[in-house]
Amino acid sequence: MKLLGIDIGGTDIDAGLVSPDGEVLESKTWPTPFTLLDLERILREIKHSFNDYATVGIGIPGLWDERLRRIRYAPNIAFLEEAPMGDIVEGIFPGARVHNDATVSTWGEAIFGNGKEFESFLMITVGTGIGGGFYYKGEVLTGLNGFAGEIGHIPVNPNGTECGCGSRGCWETEASVKALRRKYRQRTGRDLSGEEIALRARQGEGEALQVMREIGYWLGIGLGSLINILDPPAVVIGGGLSLSFDLIEDSMYEGLRDSSYVYRYSRPPILPSRFRKKAGILGAAAYGWKGKG
Ligand SMILES: [Zn+2]
Repeated sequence: MKLLGIDIGGTDIDAGLVSPDGEVLESKTWPTPFTLLDLERILREIKHSFNDYATVGIGIPGLWDERLRRIRYAPNIAFLEEAPMGDIVEGIFPGARVHNDATVSTWGEAIFGNGKEFESFLMITVGTGIGGGFYYKGEVLTGLNGFAGEIGHIPVNPNGTECGCGSRGCWETEASVKALRRKYRQRTGRDLSGEEIALRARQGEGEALQVMREIGYWLGIGLGSLINILDPPAVVIGGGLSLSFDLIEDSMYEGLRDSSYVYRYSRPPILPSRFRKKAGILGAAAYGWKGKG
């Protein structure tokens, strides 16, 4: 059996076939288009690019409304907002399952990744923004509308930077890759990618090490709030920043100890995701196959 996973991202659309044990058998990438019509065309191309798949899952960035079957808010792909994505997908891939990228990534970890060993776990995806999901005994908690898991906007720093959501000092303005780049730019005047900053930290550059430590600390502060609420048996950290987990780990534990007394007693294991570039495809394939809700 083969599972088709489609990951619609702000820059690229990745699609691929996955085996039931989590191996990506083949995959292709399309640049994310600028119109809904072009997106429909790409989805049809994907349909004909792969054969013999039993299930289809799709991950979409933004606030997916489970009841209306559409994206309500998508800062990275504005044309998706309020577009009838549920109907469009059903017309091309009957029976396909769609959810937002964070929920879908949580399913990927639950079915194929580090979450497999746990009955329940908390997934945090730290990329340009921060998203996540709580896998609890066979389901991802998605809330009334499907909006649960918008954890990037829990407030962590009242003196922090203004956020696009209208609030200030949100977790993702303090601890995402976007925050890492901003903090590095403010310190050095240089505008580098997250990977470049991580590389400089590995080479021992003081400013890069310092901003990595700051990001790790704020990551720990936000994570502490979630551990206080959920008492999860384990935490999996995915997204671009998980590739630099060793550079942020120490200060993350410091932030956790400062913010969560539950953590001081519960000590759940905190594991970086094993998935690299294929996390989106694996998550979408997992959700199409086993997802509920
Ligand atoms: Zn916010």
